[in-house]
Amino acid sequence: MTPGRPAAAPDVADRATAGFSRGYDAQPAGRWAAPGRVNLIGEHTDYNDGFVLPFALPLRTVVAAGPQPGERWTVRSEIADRPVDFGAAEADSPGRVTGWGGYVAGVVWALREAGYAVPGARLAIASDVPLGSGLSSSAALEAAVLTALADLGGLDLPAAHRPRLAQRAENGYVGAPTGIMDQSAVLRCRAGHALFLDCRDESVEHIPFDLDAAGLAILVIDSRAPHQHADGEYASRRAACERAADLLGVPALRDVPVADLDAALDRLPDDETRRRVRHVVTENQRVRDTVELLRAGRVPEIGPLLTASHASMRDDFEITVPEVDTAVEAALAAGALGARMTGGGFGGCVLALVEAAHSDAVATAVRAAYAARGFTAPTTLTALPAPGTTRLP
Ligand code: ADP
Ligand code: MG
Repeated sequence: MTPGRPAAAPDVADRATAGFSRGYDAQPAGRWAAPGRVNLIGEHTDYNDGFVLPFALPLRTVVAAGPQPGERWTVRSEIADRPVDFGAAEADSPGRVTGWGGYVAGVVWALREAGYAVPGARLAIASDVPLGSGLSSSAALEAAVLTALADLGGLDLPAAHRPRLAQRAENGYVGAPTGIMDQSAVLRCRAGHALFLDCRDESVEHIPFDLDAAGLAILVIDSRAPHQHADGEYASRRAACERAADLLGVPALRDVPVADLDAALDRLPDDETRRRVRHVVTENQRVRDTVELLRAGRVPEIGPLLTASHASMRDDFEITVPEVDTAVEAALAAGALGARMTGGGFGGCVLALVEAAHSDAVATAVRAAYAARGFTAPTTLTALPAPGTTRLP
């Protein structure tokens, strides 16, 4: 999401290596790359035990790392002038390392808590994932560090356990209450595929999402909308869903089949609750319908499902803001096959399914619509589904 970065700017992996050799006067033992992610469809379904369908972005966070004697960790990032340095005592008390270093200390903490002998290490981080835009730079950082430490220490860490450990770093050490989607996507996604994640049992399935073969692309638009009231609104939506599940006598809204929706709505006390429930139940169904279409290779046909998801978030869940509605409308008017806000709402990013050849024209139309309304210009990225976390050669 850095359209201003000149083509000749150093690659993110080279920047991580340079950061390491400048910072530590040595060469790293290896480099590990973790992507940002977007959720194709399935919003506010995660805490309702439902379904999400993220895919990995070509934007990556790279950690260059090497060993350090003892239980000592030193971390540098492009975003900070000074390194963060901590030992076992700080790693073992959640919250002790504050700020961005907390994400790294959190990974060390989660691994040690799970009984792993984490090797001391020196790390240098570079990233093309924008921070705080909802593309999950936090999970990318955790995943890259987790994988680097696992490889450096020869830790036996099954792929299926890694998302939980990275999530624990964020929940338990940093203190950010996030679901399992981000870490699952960043660690487990595959190129050319979306990740169908069941948030109840955390099982995953790789769904073919070959945009390239279909001549399509996803345009990701950072709305640049100020994230106002997002935490409080999130908490109130979540509470409304839990209350509704109680009233309906189900463990979670995931357990309301779309075929029973009308009967369920009749049992709810007020219009607002009915609309919240309708969003979650229909959104889960839209994820399943998207997966079915992708399995059948009918990629362009998912467009209307994306657009319906947006309408549901706007009208029933009421989590959109003028900037994202403007981006969606402008993208559709410019010929996108479908468009929706992605992420928890009140800002963040919009994604549009576009003919690859039209991606720039759609981006231009969105910028024009923004300018006409006096909004801060959006940044855009044209993406194909990229690989999850890997060690670089
Ligand atoms: P998002 O995950 O949507 O980008 P978060 O607020 O969850 O937003 O995470 C952003 C935070 O993660 C940053 O404020 C910073 O503390 C940390 N972070 C992410 N990437 C980096 C990086 N490359 N270097 C240092 N800290 C980072
Ligand atoms: Mg995050």
